[in-house]
Amino acid sequence: MTHYDYLIVGSGLFGATFAYKVHQAGKSCLVIDKRPQLGGNVYCEQTEGINVHKYGAHIFHTSNKAVWDFVNALVPFNRYTNYPVANYHGELYNLPFNMNTFYQMWGVHTPEEAQAKIAEQRAVVAAKLEGSEPCNLEEQALLLVGRDIYEKLIKEYTEKQWGRPCTELPAFIIRRLPLRFVFDNNYFNDPYQGIPIGGYNLLIERLLEGIDTRINSDFFANRAELTALADTIIYTGPIDQFYDYRFGKLQYRTVRFETETLNTPNYQGNAVVNYTSHDVPYTRVIEHKHFESFGQSVYENPRTVISREYSTEWQPGMEPYYPVNDDRNAALYAKYKSLTDAELHVLFGGRLAEYKYYDMAPIIEQALSLAQRIL
Ligand code: FAD
Ligand code: UDP
Repeated sequence: MTHYDYLIVGSGLFGATFAYKVHQAGKSCLVIDKRPQLGGNVYCEQTEGINVHKYGAHIFHTSNKAVWDFVNALVPFNRYTNYPVANYHGELYNLPFNMNTFYQMWGVHTPEEAQAKIAEQRAVVAAKLEGSEPCNLEEQALLLVGRDIYEKLIKEYTEKQWGRPCTELPAFIIRRLPLRFVFDNNYFNDPYQGIPIGGYNLLIERLLEGIDTRINSDFFANRAELTALADTIIYTGPIDQFYDYRFGKLQYRTVRFETETLNTPNYQGNAVVNYTSHDVPYTRVIEHKHFESFGQSVYENPRTVISREYSTEWQPGMEPYYPVNDDRNAALYAKYKSLTDAELHVLFGGRLAEYKYYDMAPIIEQALSLAQRIL
């Protein structure tokens, strides 16, 4: 039986990028995944000739030119730019919060008018805080954008997404949304953004070219045998499971996708529409074709595929998506993390092993730097 330098548990972007680098350096590796396909959360399924983002819509964006060049050398990326639209009781608003949103919300025409409106609305919370830091998401949002935007575009959406009141959520969640006094609907501040031409599966195929892989292979179903196959394990699965949940289970939020093929070429005219009111049970509707076809080419396919996203509390057996950022989980993760120092032949990486929400580009960056460090 082949003996490998590395056994890589998990074929998501972390595992696949690491495998690519060590393979290039002449090391041998086996990549296993418990799912019936490779690619982790970026995996797409073809329906009606459309790449459907099976584990949630994935938009690649980065400020790191080295990462952008790395992925583009494998598969060129298209020019997709994320311009989500928010629907609040049938009223449409551009996101992120920018001059278009302020015009739609208040009819203001200039940055000065918009700033004055926000200053007026944030005065109440600013006076209450007296210069101290906001201690929850509600205070942070009111301080950033004022009451109207908070109530129509943030409060109910956030409570649907996280299943908790905004007063019990950390302030930092909302700080990642840009606030701009220019007419710019680009959701991200990063200079590089797009989707691989031909889809994410092609990126994973290129990363794993020439590398031994096994799907439907759960590390824990065969732990001793798989461990014996390699000198070092790169583990990208859930950290609590690696230690047999000995301190208890880490919590996640998950998303249920209701995916439907429709007999229309263009259902909502955009890839992402957020439903920001409580009365609509889903958070967003994704129309997948818009990630890869633009302008008139949308009409070349008479059908379309949409996914409604329902955000729910995670239960064992569901896909763990978003780590829950609270004190209980942070303390629990710290206990598991302290065990990893004693591991001589296992290295941990990726969003599940680090119990941290990472975008794709930082995951690639980390896998590249781990490979560089140990090679
Ligand atoms: P994963 O992709 O989760 O891969 C881990 C793999 O390990 C999985 O395939 C899993 O099956 C496998 N595995 C786990 N346990 C075992 C086991 N016991 N045995 C064998 N295999 C195992 N990032 C962006 O930059 N832009 C976006 O728009 C974006 N959208 C997102 C939307 C959603 C809903 C989610 C959840 C994430 C999104 N992300 C986005 C983040 C992105 O998905 C991650 O950065 C990236 O997938 C992390 O890669 P990974 O390899 O760490 O994890
Ligand atoms: N958010 C919101 N309204 C929106 C979109 C986002 O209030 O229409 C908030 C929500 O709390 C979310 C946070 O902004 O958790 C960050 O949004 P982002 O789109 O970055 O979150 P993701 O869906 O990628 O986790």
